[in-house]
Order: sequence, then structure tokens, then C-alpha cells
Amino acid sequence: MEETLRPLAALAEVSVDRLRNIGVKRTAALAEIGIGTVFDLLTWYPRRYIDRTKQVDLSDLNVGDEAAVFGEVTKCRSARMKNGKPMVTLEVKDGSHTLGVVFFNQAWREHQLPVGTQALFFGKVGAFRDQRQMTNPVVDVIVGLLSEDRDPGRVGRVVPIYPASGKAGLTSWEMGGFIDESLRRAGELSDPLVETRRTALGLVDRSRAMHDIHLPSELSEVAPARRRLAFDEFWRLQLLLALRRKRIEESATGISHQILDEDLAVSPGVELSPAATLVRQFIAQHRFALTGAQRRVLREIAEDLRSSLPMHRLLQGDVGSGKTLVALTAMLAVRGGGHQSALMAPTEVLAEQHAVSLRRDVQELRIGDSTVLGGSREIRVALLTGSTKAKERQAILEGIATGSVDILVGTHSLLSDELKFFSLGLVVIDEQHRFGVEQRAKLRENAKTHSNTHLDPDLLVMTATPIPRTAAMVVFGDLDISTIDEMPVGRLPIETIWAEGPAQVQDCWQRVRDEVARNRRVYVVCPLVEGSSKVEATSATDERTRLAMGELRGLSVGLLHGQMKPEEKELVMQQFRSGEIQVLVATTVIEVGVDVSEATVIVIEDAWRFGLAQLHQLRGRVGRGVDQSYCFLLGAAPSEESATRLTALVGSNDGFSLAETDLALRGEGTLLGARQRGRSDLILASLQDDLDLLESARQVAYEMVESGDLAGMEEELRLFVEEDEAAYLFRS
Ligand code: ADP
Ligand code: MG
Repeated sequence: MEETLRPLAALAEVSVDRLRNIGVKRTAALAEIGIGTVFDLLTWYPRRYIDRTKQVDLSDLNVGDEAAVFGEVTKCRSARMKNGKPMVTLEVKDGSHTLGVVFFNQAWREHQLPVGTQALFFGKVGAFRDQRQMTNPVVDVIVGLLSEDRDPGRVGRVVPIYPASGKAGLTSWEMGGFIDESLRRAGELSDPLVETRRTALGLVDRSRAMHDIHLPSELSEVAPARRRLAFDEFWRLQLLLALRRKRIEESATGISHQILDEDLAVSPGVELSPAATLVRQFIAQHRFALTGAQRRVLREIAEDLRSSLPMHRLLQGDVGSGKTLVALTAMLAVRGGGHQSALMAPTEVLAEQHAVSLRRDVQELRIGDSTVLGGSREIRVALLTGSTKAKERQAILEGIATGSVDILVGTHSLLSDELKFFSLGLVVIDEQHRFGVEQRAKLRENAKTHSNTHLDPDLLVMTATPIPRTAAMVVFGDLDISTIDEMPVGRLPIETIWAEGPAQVQDCWQRVRDEVARNRRVYVVCPLVEGSSKVEATSATDERTRLAMGELRGLSVGLLHGQMKPEEKELVMQQFRSGEIQVLVATTVIEVGVDVSEATVIVIEDAWRFGLAQLHQLRGRVGRGVDQSYCFLLGAAPSEESATRLTALVGSNDGFSLAETDLALRGEGTLLGARQRGRSDLILASLQDDLDLLESARQVAYEMVESGDLAGMEEELRLFVEEDEAAYLFRS
């Protein structure tokens, strides 16, 4: 490698075996932990650092403490115990204090840890003959004396500790050696982030960052280095998202729908001219007024609908904030121009419920149709699920193809190959936050081929599981985001009670009886059980029997679980709505979207087993009307973490703030799990701490993609995507 400014991507072409001291064996060991190139080595960042000028005072350690002690081996002796087994004893000096270390049955330690070695010892501090001692600690050699690269001098005041791999037999010290050499041989790196931007963002340059993260001379150099490298991670990610989006827009031919902002501003009861648009009629005749937030997001949606670029938008809103009404208004705008809509729900129960409520909401409306007597007809909402009977299915398929069905509601199967739409204008996906970027792209592609017009329908994705803004920018980075941040007026906050002990549980069942006596409905959510949905169904069935004969004797107790036939489920939901069933014992099939406004109590058994987002979703099944509602969380919490979760739920009704808590509790892995895994995973960047970096990275990325100048980032981005995707993203 010659001494010129080198792009980071070029390091991905240099295999690790080109480095000194890396032969066949170590190449294989490195490959085992996913390191094949110098680029991989340089992005293998230290886990932490030890400041050698700051001595840990051994005398502060108490017997019984777990500790990590950094020190130099000053004595090393090997002996045999009475039973003939080997024993190695060390004396380790840490400043003025000493620690005894003893290994049983690990004769090789004598060779690993000769006098002069500096290492970290992790273990429990014990005592032996008045001296502090660790027995069989975990060891991380920092400055070794054995390897060919015996060079304690290379270590400065601050020692980086690398995630070493015991499995691959590589110590932190060895990793450090490889990385040092990589840094030396890489030389100065070119920086695709121009200086003006760098200065404006307060970021150090790439070479400096790469050097300082690995070889800081002061601990204070680490933070700026980390910031810059974290920025780069977000930057790459956002560039890819921006490119994807741009490509979609380039190839898209959408429909320009007509929708007027002034129609969104009307209130119920306003007088209508005969020429009023469908949207205007709908809002003017609806049972209640839109909230301010609903109107605002509808204006955002309307702008997208008017554009001939297809909409690609996420609608975020807390449970019960009224997303469905927003979606329906958009569907009516689309219908006003003669196009159809499809609404996809994640479960059959939910699809059915949507069909029922949409039909109810549009029953007053009429649309012109010259093929029918009188020249106008009602709006047709069809429900298509896996359990739709063949004959009915045939009729629906025909209706979709000829345009006599206006709104099609169903599950995933909505985009099966059989379906041909007369003119599909809008696809709404409900509660599908688990769709990844790639799946959305596929869906879009599919939707287009399913419409006779071959135009791209607009896409609205709805989620009731709010995620923190940072995470949204990563998970939904290719979507525009609209947020409903206001609840319909008159909603009382749900009172949440954690019923830990038997007395509180008694109160809970009493409340259930009281509410049923007031003709309200109650959900009881069964404990989450490991295993198949069959096991879960059995346990729900047992629980129903138990309650019907015990605490809830005399009430009408129904059952709902995932193993029931769709017709059975439908019947049960109908009976629950009508009050024939007063208490519904259910599994989490009711988690998403189920909407029965007479339900005022939800009892969640063994609440600690559920995640925070899920608990909030479940709680959202009540509090949907004007009555005070209650959520009871049953059971003690077996761990501190689960107690924190339940306490958070008791303390807040706000899904957005709970999402922040959830992120803090669970970490980012789970959140990002839905994203395509690959090299693009965030290593240093944190969704919790780096919001500002993410925002600036996003802005820079969108500006670059807009201007068409990728400033030499293309090769680097190629490292993070598959070849076929690269071909698509970077075609000129
Ligand atoms: P989610 O956002 O959870 O999907 P829904 O769309 O199911 O919420 O709405 C929850 C409940 O609130 C429904 O019963 C709906 O009819 C009602 N609702 C929606 N918008 C309003 C509004 N502007 N004023 C009063 N009630 C509303
Ligand atoms: Mg909903």
C-alpha cells in the first residue's frame, strides 16, 4: 500500500493475510469471527479502554466482589497439588497493591502469563492467608510477552480492550496488534465528508477518528472519534434509504388524486351543496368531528395524493388516536376520482372488524354509477380472507376487476396473484410495523401489477406501536412520517392498577362484576404461554372454565383464541359486542386493533410476561368510549426489569413515552431486528444517544442524493448491500 489518501472502501480489498504475523491459522481464526479484510479489522472497535495512569485501588475491593483488575505479573510459579493436579500461582501488581491469582488444572497458564505480562483478570475476589486472591479468573492479556510481536512499547497510556474471541483463540492484545498494523499500513484515509460540512457538524476527519478510536493517547480523544464514526454509520444507512427512495420515485407513475384541503376543514352538520365531494359529504355527515391532529395528517396525506408521485407514508398514532378514520377519508378521496382502495390487516379478526366499521361509516354515502338504476349507489366494501367461501370469493374477484367493489378489506392474501383490480389507487396497511424496507418495495411492485391501470397506487402504512423518532428514522427511513399526537376529546385516561397481591386481585374481580352490572364489557387476557398456539388455546380454554366456575361465576364468559375457526371468532366478537357475552377470555389475538367501545375493563394475567409495547396495545382495547376504563395487571414481577415495565405502564398512558422506556429497557437489537441484517448494522451509533447525529446524517444524505453527487461514497456503500441491489441503486 503506498502513501496516498486512501478511500475506506479500498481497505475492504486487502485481505488480512497480507498483514505481518497473520498466517493461515490466524486468518482462519479471524474468519471465524467475521473478519476477512483490513476494513473489517478497522471496524472492530474496542469494547472499552483502560487508562493505565489511573490505578484501581485493590484495597477498595471487598472479598466477595466481582472485579476486573488490571496489573502486571510479578511472580509466576507452577506446582503440583497433593492429588497430582497442576496449580499455577501468580502475584499481580497493581500500583502498590498486590493480588494473588491461582489457577487449578490450567498448567498452560504458566506459559501464557510469564513475569512482565500485563493483563486483565476478571473474577471474584477471595482471600487467602490475609491476601486478596482470585481463583481461576478470566484473563485478557493486554501486553503479552510471548507472541512474535513482543512489543510492550506499542501501548500508550490508554489501552484499548477489544472484544476478544475465546472461541477463535484470539486475545485482545493480538487483535490490537493486527489493528495497529492495519492503521499504519492504511495511511491517511480520504474523507468523503467535505470540510465545510465537517466543521459545521463539529466532526473530526475520518483518519483522525479511525486512529483515535483505536489508539487514543488520552481517553478524552475517544468521544469525538466515536461521534464521527457513528455519524458515518448513520450516514451510510441514510444514503442507502435515500437512494432507494429516489429509485422508487424515478420509476413510479402514480395517480394524481383530487382532494381539497377545504373539504378536510368542514365540520359535522355543515350544509352541503349537491356537488359536494365524497370527502366533504363524509366529514360533514360523520357522527363526530375530526381532531386537529387528524386534520393535520390528512392535509399531509392529501398533498401526497395530489402529487403524481406515489405516496409512501407512515401514519403513526397511539392506540385509539383514530387512524382508521384518517385512512377511510383518504380512501374516499381516492374513490371520488373513481379508484379503488385495499386495506390489509394482520389478522382475520381485525380485517372483519374493519369491514364492519367501514360499512357502518359509509352507509349514508352515495356515488354516481350510470350502470345502476337511479344513477347512484352505495359504496361497496368487500371482505376477502382465507375463509371466504369459493362462490362469494368469485363474486368479489369479479367486483374488484370490474370496479363494482370500491374498498377491499382483507389479510396479507390481498395481493395474491388471482386479484386484478379495475384501478387500484391506494393501499393501506394496518398495524404492520414489522414490514421491512424490502417487503414494502415488493408490495409496491405487486400492487402495480395487480392493477389494470399499471399505475403505482399510493401507500399508507399505519402503526399503533409508536417507536422513538430515532428508531423510526432507521426502520422507516424510506417513508415520510405523519404523526397523530392528539386523542379524540372526552377520552378519560385509562386507570391502570398493578394488582400484585391477593387482596388487590379480589378488588379487580369485584370491579369486573361492577362494570358488567353497568352493562359494560370486560376482556381477560390469558397468560402468555410458551409453545404452539395450540398450547396457548388449551390454556385459554382452561382459564375460561376456571373463571366461569370461580371468580366470575354467574357471568356470561366467552372465549377467543387463535385456533378457533374464523366463523367462530366472528360469532364470538358479535356476541361480545351485543353483550350476550359479558366477559371475553382471550389470548393475545385481541392485541391489535380490536374495537368494542363498550369494553371498560381489561384484566391481564401474569402481566410481567408481556413486553411493554404489547401491554400498551392490550390496554388500548379499553378506553375507546367516553366511560372511565380500567386496566388490571395481575401478578407479582419476578425481576427488577419486569417490575420497571409494569411500573412504567401504571405511570403513563402515552405510547410514545413508553416506547422510549422500552428502547432503554430492551436495547436496540430487538427494535432493529426487523431490518435486514447485514454489514449495515449500527455498531457504534446508538439510537438512544445519537439523535442529533442521525438527524444531520439524514439531512446530508438526502441533500447528496438530491444533488446526484455521492462524493465518493458509492464504493463504500457497495460494501453494505448485495450485488443485485447495488446494481439497482447505482445504475446511472
Ligand atoms: P386506532 O388509531 O387505534 O386504530 P381507531 O381508528 O380504532 O384507533 O379509533 C379508536 C376509536 O376512536 C374508534 O371507536 C373511533 O370511532 C373513535 N374515533 C376516531 N376518531 C375520533 C374523533 N375524531 N372523535 C371521537 N372519536 C373518534
Ligand atoms: Mg386501528
